Amino acid sequence: MSAGPRSDLVGGRVRPDISGFGEAEARQIIAENLALERALEDVREAFEENGGRSSDAAKLVDARLRVLRLAYRDGLTGMANRSAMVKHLAGTVDAADPGFQAYLTVSFEDLGLVNDFFGFEMGDRALRSIAELLTDMIEVPDGESSLGVAPVAVARVGSNVFGLHFGGLSDSREAAETEVHELAEPLFTKINAALRSCLGNVVDADLRIGYVLYRAADGLDGAQIFTRAETARRRALSPRVSREPVGFDAQMTEAMQHRANLLFDLRHSLEDGNMRVHYQPIVDADRHIQGYEALVRWDDPVRGLVQPDDFVPLTESTGLIVEIGAWVLEEACRTLAGWSRNDETAGLFVAVNVSEQQLRQPDFAETVREALRRTGARPELLKLEVTETMIHSDVDRTVAVLQDLRTDDIEISLDDFGVGYSSLSYLKWLPVQNLKIDRTFVMNLVEDPLDAAMVEAIIALGHVMGVSVVAEGVETEEQFARLREFGADRFQGFLFGRPGELAAPPID
Ligand code: C2E
Ligand code: MG
Ligand code: MG
Repeated sequence: MSAGPRSDLVGGRVRPDISGFGEAEARQIIAENLALERALEDVREAFEENGGRSSDAAKLVDARLRVLRLAYRDGLTGMANRSAMVKHLAGTVDAADPGFQAYLTVSFEDLGLVNDFFGFEMGDRALRSIAELLTDMIEVPDGESSLGVAPVAVARVGSNVFGLHFGGLSDSREAAETEVHELAEPLFTKINAALRSCLGNVVDADLRIGYVLYRAADGLDGAQIFTRAETARRRALSPRVSREPVGFDAQMTEAMQHRANLLFDLRHSLEDGNMRVHYQPIVDADRHIQGYEALVRWDDPVRGLVQPDDFVPLTESTGLIVEIGAWVLEEACRTLAGWSRNDETAGLFVAVNVSEQQLRQPDFAETVREALRRTGARPELLKLEVTETMIHSDVDRTVAVLQDLRTDDIEISLDDFGVGYSSLSYLKWLPVQNLKIDRTFVMNLVEDPLDAAMVEAIIALGHVMGVSVVAEGVETEEQFARLREFGADRFQGFLFGRPGELAAPPID
């Protein structure tokens, strides 16, 4: 395997002075920046007029090159930065080589954790240790490379992301895929070893690797190669744990296009009046309806009724959920206020799901109070559903916000209990009054004795902690019977009613 064309631009570390910039390298950079080129021509003229290198002119050249260096180097690690890598990749597509090349992108997902727990200095040190390791790799001949094949160029392309370009892979896509997977494994191990010696940790760091294979014949430009690998790496983020590099495929672009279209339409959905709230009954052991959970639906003119799993995550990753969530809350409160005007429905509660971004808004508690005030709904009949992950991400703040809401008698429910890093111990100090056992446990309750034991234990412990326990996703009479035996307080599921529009709530 040949190493492919080497590029000084995306090579080693920052040299101490401008003489370290090779002539070819400087020329390449200058050619890309006309304004600077003109400035340097001025200097050359000055040289000629003076018949030699005047100290002023030398300083000017020095300054110009420093500016160039800033534009193409990453300040923290001294590696090439993203624009240098994109330009480098652009240069690789002219290669006469018919074989595949690969651009890999590796993210160090624990950087935020390191910064939070050990401080930014330690985070910087971790990044520098990765940078040093990668930079050393390009100076090694292929035969001696610890990866089997040495990268042609390396760069820091994002705050926690590094890029590596490999040239001269096989002519067959399959073989090239194998080569990439073969070099990703030692790369993973090496980076982990470097981080371990820097941070002194014992567990593997969370590294995600995406890559794209390309050939000159593909006609891609530098930015396209770069973006494709980033898309693949983002895909690699979805499994909870993974060491597998994810390769780009065309479907990912389609998926991105689909996402972009969805988001575009979603942004207008509220103002166009296309959001709906459906309500699903929650019953007691005698099947009497106690209240309803409000569940959002998107009634798109083209797509039809879209379920939350198909759009809520997208609104969460874009912050749109804050607006939509506030609307759902107000709608639910309006429904609640309507119920309270009728004796038969006056005691029903409504449960509303709250996303992490909503809870993180500094004025979240105020938004809730405003919704109650505007609609005239009674706060003690409003339950807010939060999930465990929200609590883990910022315990102190979450507890403070929830406690604030508790002063108005609003109840808090812990939704989807059991699927996260469930720990009943923190229920002791969380202001939570209800626990909703996730439907994945209820699903296998009758067949799986382990799930049955878990559900029984959660219910028993929940009661010891003074919280009421709701079972989600009850679909069969057998499940209902077992849950009643275990002492669950309330039940929700298709057995009692599917989510639906609620013109006038059915009274049992
Ligand atoms: P969730 O809060 O756990 O809601 C319960 C989900 O389980 C609902 O799905 C409901 O239709 C479904 N379900 C209820 N009973 C059964 C059953 O017996 N069998 C099965 N198979 N499923 C059952 P839905 O409406 O599709 O909502 C999915 C998730 O989307 C919700 O899970 C919640 O996390 C989120 N979501 C829904 N509405 C909102 C909202 O207004 N805001 C936010 N932030 N998230 C929402
Ligand atoms: Mg819920
Ligand atoms: Mg749930």
